[in-house]
Amino acid sequence: MITACYVSHKCPRCGGEVIFDQKATGVQCRYCGAGMVVLGGRSAWLNFLIKPKIAVKDTAHEVTKIAQKSGWKPPLLRSVIPFYLPFYRITGQAIKWVKGEKRDKVYPHGRIVEDVKTRHFDLMRPAHTDMSAGLFSPGVRAQTLHLFLATRENAGGVPFLPIQVKKDSFRERVNHSTAEGLDAPGLMITEEKTFLIWERHSILYFPLSLVEVREGERIRLLLLDSVSGKLVRQIGYQEMETLLGNLGIGGSKSPGEGRLKLVPLICPECAGDLDSSTKAVVRFCLRCGRGWESKGTRLRERECLWAGTEVMTRQEGVIFLPFWRRNTGEQSWLVPAFGVRSPHLLYNLSRRYYKARFPAEAIPYNCRLRLKSLSAEIPPDEADEMMEVVAHTDDREAVQIKGSRQSLVLVPFRRSGPDLVDQYHGLAVPTGSLEVGL
Ligand SMILES: [Zn+2]
Ligand SMILES: [Zn+2]
Repeated sequence: MITACYVSHKCPRCGGEVIFDQKATGVQCRYCGAGMVVLGGRSAWLNFLIKPKIAVKDTAHEVTKIAQKSGWKPPLLRSVIPFYLPFYRITGQAIKWVKGEKRDKVYPHGRIVEDVKTRHFDLMRPAHTDMSAGLFSPGVRAQTLHLFLATRENAGGVPFLPIQVKKDSFRERVNHSTAEGLDAPGLMITEEKTFLIWERHSILYFPLSLVEVREGERIRLLLLDSVSGKLVRQIGYQEMETLLGNLGIGGSKSPGEGRLKLVPLICPECAGDLDSSTKAVVRFCLRCGRGWESKGTRLRERECLWAGTEVMTRQEGVIFLPFWRRNTGEQSWLVPAFGVRSPHLLYNLSRRYYKARFPAEAIPYNCRLRLKSLSAEIPPDEADEMMEVVAHTDDREAVQIKGSRQSLVLVPFRRSGPDLVDQYHGLAVPTGSLEVGL
């Protein structure tokens, strides 16, 4: 489910390079040891760049290799102009629910079955159109290489080509690709619905170079991939003129940092230390017990309740699992907030707990610091998306987002065989499916 994608940023305390997974909510600086919360990474369209691997001075060597492969005469390098080409990127989960008739040997007259399939998607399309890179796409390299925030400093003065495609038209163009491959073979479908959840957007600047070479009597204009050194394609003079024009206009501007920010792991209320997990979306203060989540570029307190008692905090083997709860006063809806390895299982657990009722009271301060709990790793907006999926696919009463209150509820569980079983309904969560080891 999770594909690692590393982001480099500067430590606000010592200036060292901090590297973390794009999905991380917290990070520790390996130079000065400072713990930090990553703010703003979830909601904004962040601008990233991939740094070139082929330096301008090494370009001649790459061009010689290309010439040998293509059977050209030994080329003479005339100029190298490095630049960044922007791509839109969207990642997320597609959930496809289908209902239909299935016929097989056991049921020759058919029976109604339901099926749910999930898929992680990671799609990229050029955001600049004046210069086409042909079929070239950064592809999986965005997942395997470090991403840096697209600042002028990180770009080392190399110019950025301007964005020319609207965000909306990018969304339209990739929409049909998000649920590709989620078919249900052998099923006569009568009803189906696809949900896109947990979407994240970014703009990824990929390094290319325009290389002008003389080969005998002719001049060739080569577009080079500055990560692999490979030839993307040859371009014409007209295209080069346009490219140079665009670099002249947009080149001096930096796309900015988006809103990614690193702040110290300190409770805004009492200045105590905050829980230093790298994945928690709500962090508890280790001194006052308040729960904090990131809202834009700052920390905001989140209401945290529990279904426990003081006695439970002292019982051996009791562990609290966090759930997101929507509550209107009369009704409530629940979905897991803890991290689960597969979205399919998270969907099944969400169905199981959707209308489960637990007590939910404010956690007494003297208990907050003592209770053992898993971190909430599903952000509140993603929990809302999952509630909608459950309501639609399981014929359940729809959750009332408007007019309801969203809180984190810690529910006591006890280990029983391979499962964690809750104290109230005996509903089980398989421990092997959790993102954390227990
Ligand atoms: Zn540092
Ligand atoms: Zn505090």
